[in-house]
Amino acid sequence: MNGDAVRLRCVTRQYSSGGTSVTALDQVSVGFSKGTFTAVMGPSGSGKSTLLQCAAGLDRPTSGSVTIGGTELTGLSETKLTLLRRERIGFVFQAFNLLPSLTAEQNVALPLRLAGRRPRKARVREVLEQVGLGERARHRPSHMSGGQQQRVALARALITRPEVLFGDEPTGALDSRTGREVLVLLRGMVDREGQTIIIVTHDPVAASYADRVVVLVDGRVNGELVGAGAEDIAARVTKLEALPC
Ligand code: ADP
Repeated sequence: MNGDAVRLRCVTRQYSSGGTSVTALDQVSVGFSKGTFTAVMGPSGSGKSTLLQCAAGLDRPTSGSVTIGGTELTGLSETKLTLLRRERIGFVFQAFNLLPSLTAEQNVALPLRLAGRRPRKARVREVLEQVGLGERARHRPSHMSGGQQQRVALARALITRPEVLFGDEPTGALDSRTGREVLVLLRGMVDREGQTIIIVTHDPVAASYADRVVVLVDGRVNGELVGAGAEDIAARVTKLEALPC
């Protein structure tokens, strides 16, 4: 066993506004083994983004604990949490969030610059090559396709060699062919380099690239599928969405 890259124990996240309170996560306990690819699925509002944000140290649970590689996040100061995110976690979003005035290589080098480190050119080229964009290092995002932009975002997330790569609908803005290229890339990182990846997706095809699908309903883990194909995943999710509220 490789152990857990990330573990949530009894995590509850409540949001209060105007006197009412919403329980986005309700006593969630789940572990994500090192070197595995997990997809988190569930109906809209089931708590997927909240789970990802709590797991990545972007949001703090109301109660419960989150550990990343054995480090307990609960109780860490904002400064320590920021450092941990910067050095040990990578994040890609549906919107690629690249800086339009910077070239691909400048975008990729940015996390290191922000951390006060001088990015080595060879390392920047290496990650760009890893995502198949070695030839595009000097291009700006506006001269790239959506798939290429997401691959730059992926290279930017990987430059620090993060222990865990999180993705919130990373293929949500891509057509199915380009989305698939990104998924093949993610799968390869897990298989070849032992990268740990956790994504939120509503797409059963995207989820079928994962080793495991964790299904959330109403802020709770409703079950999981291991090694399932897109059809089985789709059948499971469709059934859930048909449930009465
Ligand atoms: P999903 O990603 O599955 O669509 P979310 O994690 O975004 O679900 O949201 C889960 C629940 O928490 C929803 O009912 C949502 O309205 C609520 N929620 C999420 N973020 C906030 C917030 N910042 N303030 C208030 N309620 C929120």
